[in-house]
Amino acid sequence: MTKKLFWENSYKTEFEAKIIELTKEGVVLNQTLFYPKSGGQVSDHGFLKAGDTIFEVDYTIKKEDEIIHHIKSDFKEELKIGKIVKGKIDWEYRYGIMKAHTSQHLFSALILNKYNIETSKVYIDFEEVVLELAQNMDYTQLKSVFNEVNSICISDNQKIEVKTMNYEEAKKCSNEIRGFVPEHSKIRLVQIESNDLVCCGGTHVHNSIEIGPLLIDSFKKNREIRYYLGKKAVNMLSDINIDLLISAELLNQPTLKLKQATEKNLNLISNLQQENKNLIIRTLNLISQIPTTSINNISIYIIDMNIENKILTKEFKNFPSNSLLIANLSNNKFRVFSKCKDVKANEIVQYLIEKFGGKGGGSDNSAQCSIDYESMDILNEIRIVLNRK
Ligand SMILES: [Zn+2]
Repeated sequence: MTKKLFWENSYKTEFEAKIIELTKEGVVLNQTLFYPKSGGQVSDHGFLKAGDTIFEVDYTIKKEDEIIHHIKSDFKEELKIGKIVKGKIDWEYRYGIMKAHTSQHLFSALILNKYNIETSKVYIDFEEVVLELAQNMDYTQLKSVFNEVNSICISDNQKIEVKTMNYEEAKKCSNEIRGFVPEHSKIRLVQIESNDLVCCGGTHVHNSIEIGPLLIDSFKKNREIRYYLGKKAVNMLSDINIDLLISAELLNQPTLKLKQATEKNLNLISNLQQENKNLIIRTLNLISQIPTTSINNISIYIIDMNIENKILTKEFKNFPSNSLLIANLSNNKFRVFSKCKDVKANEIVQYLIEKFGGKGGGSDNSAQCSIDYESMDILNEIRIVLNRK
């Protein structure tokens, strides 16, 4: 069994321990400060020193009551059972995880306290957290909770305390505990003043202001919140700041009015798209009245425009009978529509593919293809197809 020194003092970085077991991947110690991956929190990494030799521990995992320290290099020669080693965790990394973990308690607790929404899953990494909520939350709710969490993490100075009690005691006060109480003989509870009380075996900071400001990176499907803190948040904030400045200059707007400017521009784009669509429909209507040419009583219409298939299909219904419409889209793509008994749309497409290479297909009335050859005279090719009838 490995004694969990990180539970006694999460701020301690160095320790001494005895090797009690060797596994294929690494060593098991009688006690350790290395937190093993569990409860949504990533593991610590660092070093073990035996004599003058340093071994890198890249991760630690839990196996029943033991913690395996995974050693990157070949260690079997020097590390033997009974040997005393000195351990040192990567403090900057651990501290970033402690801050992230504590912020997660606070965030989850406030979402539950304010909106009765539980957190169903968490992922805690170095200066990064993902919360998966059991129910949807809207942006107004998110903003309200986020402001409160940030205020506590920046200036509210709330204490984080750990207490242990036996299972029966914990069960008695389970209505005050967020989440479930595991059936262990000793229960470890983490409390953030009047905001949160939860069973947890992770590592946490002592005071909320150690966490610092949080920055939300994404809010997917109104349920998944990914946020950063510490250096990750500051770096991201700097990037966003510069991007905002560039966007503000491009849009010729003050930075703080970018949201309104973006909404205005999106409306403008939407109106332009609608006007463009109306214009295309009017153009198709005009084109349908004057064929490009006529061969064997078939009216041929050729248009060089990138038009959506939905619009073409709908508008071709208004073309006269015995019409053949060829839309030359961008990148050697063609769409063919036919109202002729003698010439099928797919027949033309297959002819083009066979002659010039490419791919495509379709039905008697509608077909499309991408042609490999660039300088093709489409009208000339249609003429060849019709004249061989
Ligand atoms: Zn925790």
